[in-house]
Amino acid sequence: MIRTLFSPMSIDKRFGIAIFIALIPVLTLSGWLLVYEALVYVRANEGLESFRSFRSALLAMEAVSAERGPTNGALGDELPIPAAHAVALQKARHTSDTRIAALIDTLRPAHCSTCMSDFSAMQKVQADLSAARSSVDQLAHRPRAQRGDPALWGAVNRMIGLIPEILPVVTTRMSGVVKGDTDALNCVFVARLTADLREQAGQLGSRFTGALAVHRQLIDDERLAIERTQGRIDQLRAMINTRVSGHPGLSQQLFARMNDQYFGDGLRYVSMVRALASQPDGANISTAEFAENYVPTMRAITDFRDGVLLLAEDEMLRHRRNALLVFLGTGIADALLLAMLMTVAVMFRRHVIGPFVQATHVIDAIARGDLTTDVPASFPREEINGMFNAIRVLKDNSAERVRLEQERLHLITELKTLAETDSLTGLLNRRAFESRACAMCVEAEHAGTQLAMVMFDVDHFKRINDTHGHAAGDDALRIVAELCRGNWRQSDLVARIGGEEFAVLTQVQTVAQAVDMAQRLRCEIEEAVVPVMAGGSCLMTASFGISFSSNGEGADVVSLLRRADRMLYAAKTSGRNRVVADGGTTASEGPAGCEEACAGGG
Ligand code: GH3
Ligand code: MG
Ligand code: MG
Repeated sequence: MIRTLFSPMSIDKRFGIAIFIALIPVLTLSGWLLVYEALVYVRANEGLESFRSFRSALLAMEAVSAERGPTNGALGDELPIPAAHAVALQKARHTSDTRIAALIDTLRPAHCSTCMSDFSAMQKVQADLSAARSSVDQLAHRPRAQRGDPALWGAVNRMIGLIPEILPVVTTRMSGVVKGDTDALNCVFVARLTADLREQAGQLGSRFTGALAVHRQLIDDERLAIERTQGRIDQLRAMINTRVSGHPGLSQQLFARMNDQYFGDGLRYVSMVRALASQPDGANISTAEFAENYVPTMRAITDFRDGVLLLAEDEMLRHRRNALLVFLGTGIADALLLAMLMTVAVMFRRHVIGPFVQATHVIDAIARGDLTTDVPASFPREEINGMFNAIRVLKDNSAERVRLEQERLHLITELKTLAETDSLTGLLNRRAFESRACAMCVEAEHAGTQLAMVMFDVDHFKRINDTHGHAAGDDALRIVAELCRGNWRQSDLVARIGGEEFAVLTQVQTVAQAVDMAQRLRCEIEEAVVPVMAGGSCLMTASFGISFSSNGEGADVVSLLRRADRMLYAAKTSGRNRVVADGGTTASEGPAGCEEACAGGG
């Protein structure tokens, strides 16, 4: 039985599944890497957004803080307030409004989904600023002498109180920046400290407003507040110093200018004014004059802060660009890796799996004996070509083997025929006749039919040989065989069982039928002309003996032959050229004078 060479799942399919399984971890890993890098980029982007609102918050805080300068100036002015001071105040207020509006815009829910609380806080700052300005304006419209200290303190403190309202927004924005880009922490922190410094510097100036406005001595509360603010300024300076020395990228130039202008000139001027205002008559310096000298020194603080913010923004932009490049690089690397894997898989399938499957089909066909399948040729790989060449040899060998097998079968058949056939006449020989006769006897017994064994012998055959030669004798035997073939049926067994002795086993309905057939053959032999040498011819006769099997009883070949031989002998002894049947039921004699049948050369 031919074993099938194909398992239920083809190697091609198995290979596809294996590639799919191998791709799962590769896809997972590259997908995870891609998502991670995308998140880094998104965080850097969000950090930058937070940074921009952080800067807006610092600028808004600074503007509100700076607005206190012209506000204090107006509170210290006699009526009518000088036009330049009024203009300065309006300008400062406009700046505050613009910056607060810009900050609120970045915090709107439409722009930032997580900024709701800061958005509300800044709306409240807007309202509180407006209220603080109304109280300042009410006070500023009174004559300067009627502006009592508590009222002035109240107005100044309301303005100062706006800053702590903005600070939480600054802090929240700052944490958003750090979450998006941790490297920005130092710069953002320095910017935050500097903004605080600017606020404290502004507050320090505000502490003098009451005393300078009415040219009186600083009271104890004011001195205490000035001390406290200066202490806070010193503290902030130390903190900024530490941060700047640890970050070489921060602008040393702007930092040095801040040290010179504010911590040098600005604070020196404050010390001088404080000394004068500590005199019993107070200082003869107006609030506007104080602001003119002091406020410009604070510009160095905001310049430094802006420098720090610029540096931070540059760094964040650079980080975001790097994150984008890494993301794109990862995406390209992932795509290349996948493309490479797929190409290797496709090439392997095309150059190895495909030919292997083809080879399997061809070998399977050869194993099944189907040699019509073509063996593919011309593969780019030498090894694959070698494999198909070997398969081609296998196919040729199989074809040769099949051919040899057919030849062997043919020879066996031929040999079998030769073993059963008499070479001279082409009739069955005695051995084949006996073996087939046995089978025929068994069949006849089963079928309940009657058999007749007709045995005949050429009369005085020796004389033919002796007179005309052995070749003429052979010709005579061939003629007899030919007459037998024409006289008996296809189903009858006809054999040459001896030198010039023949036997026929035939199925008959009646004894007479067998006798008639024998008689007809006898006559044909008698009439046959045997050509002999020298253009002559000779005649011959034959004697017949017939035996029968009994109807429905078992027939024995040996017994049939023996009895037929006895009848033949009887025919010979009773004068030859006649038919003698078993049981004496029928006996036919041939025409007289047949014994001397030889004519011509005789
Ligand atoms: P009878 O009438 O009594 O049968 O006499 P007969 O001469 O036919 O019988 P006999 O047994 O005396 O001679 C048979 C001869 O047949 C002897 C033998 O040489 C010859 N013979 C046997 N086989 C062949 C053969 O194949 N070819 C030829 N040409 N002669 C053969
Ligand atoms: Mg004879
Ligand atoms: Mg004989």
